[in-house]
Amino acid sequence: MNKGYLSSWAKNVSPSPTLAVDAKAKALKAAGEDVCGFGAGEPDFDTPSFIKEACARALSDGKTKYAPAAGIPALRSALAEKYVEKGVLNEKNSSQVIVSPGGKYSCYLAILATCGPGDEVIIPAPYWVSYPEMVKLAGATPKVIFAGDDQGFKVSPDQIEDALSPSSKLIILNSPSNPTGCLYEKKEMEEIVELACKHDLLIMSDEIYEYLLYDGATHFSPASFSQDAKDRVITVSGFSKTFSMTGWRLGTLVANSEICKAVADLQSQTTSNPTTFSQYGALAAMENWEKAMIAVNEMLVHFDRRRINLLEGLQSIPGISCQRAQGAFYLFPNISSCGLSSEVFSARLLEDQKVAVVSGHAFGAEGYIRLSYATSDEIIQNGVDRIMKFVNSLS
Ligand SMILES: *Cc1c(COP(=O)(O)O)cnc(C)c1O
Repeated sequence: MNKGYLSSWAKNVSPSPTLAVDAKAKALKAAGEDVCGFGAGEPDFDTPSFIKEACARALSDGKTKYAPAAGIPALRSALAEKYVEKGVLNEKNSSQVIVSPGGKYSCYLAILATCGPGDEVIIPAPYWVSYPEMVKLAGATPKVIFAGDDQGFKVSPDQIEDALSPSSKLIILNSPSNPTGCLYEKKEMEEIVELACKHDLLIMSDEIYEYLLYDGATHFSPASFSQDAKDRVITVSGFSKTFSMTGWRLGTLVANSEICKAVADLQSQTTSNPTTFSQYGALAAMENWEKAMIAVNEMLVHFDRRRINLLEGLQSIPGISCQRAQGAFYLFPNISSCGLSSEVFSARLLEDQKVAVVSGHAFGAEGYIRLSYATSDEIIQNGVDRIMKFVNSLS
């Protein structure tokens, strides 16, 4: 095959490094090794049973056929109501809500619908691994700006302004963040939205961790700040992280009507509808919101306890410093004074002590590692001891 098998898109795309670490840890475990895994990017709880039961009913009722590409009307309507309450929508207008096969796909379509060759997308690092790849797949150019732990992993409006060019089209925000767990405060978010309005930029706000909050923190949707913001913010979320529904593949997207129509058309030509019976499970969560939040709060009690234990454990290791993150289920400690690159640190930690973490370089942040505390108390305790041993062995 002289022309080569692969397209320029396929040659340029990198595999997801977070999934790779998880696969490696699972392979070691399968080979009988006692691995402490902190690589997981998903909650370790089962989906609440009333959601599973609603899906099972939908299956037995024959909800097994194609459905409207943008989602079943009842679910779009329930989501529109939620977004009116959050101040993201002015009125309960279902045509501004799309249900997709996963938050990841919502992100991709948001980028694909708005950015193409010649456009620049501003991505604050540490970033979620998929953003730069999605931007490249759309033919646009990622423009990465960095915020380390000295600024709480949050970019300043000045940094964004310095990164602007006449080609800047979109900025990606992810609060609470994967990989850092950090959360933008209202004022910080407002300043960025103001800047976007001033420079005619779109914002993609990935709010997949909007309900996983600690220390009494509050989440703000940038679209809720003004009418101008509503027109230029694409709000992405989904069911995976909040309700422990990663395998169900259900994401959401809210935007102005023009963008929503483009996203719905792209979806109809690429995936058709998100899985029909999955949507009935999600609908049960939306229609029984109080019950759903009780289930979420139960998970949060466990997440919060693990967060504090892991945080205090990491902070007790000389040479490692760690920010107290207020959202998601990740901590992102600074390991730069240990004298190894993030990649070598993670590889040797897995080899020497059988502890799986993700190297910060995967998130555009050399000098850091990501640990997920969506794992047991025992693994956290054990893992901290082993990391301590490993770091001590370096000096
Ligand atoms: C997990 C995650 C998503 C999307 O997850 P889906 O399972 O595709 O819904 C989106 N953004 C971030 C930052 C995530 O961590």
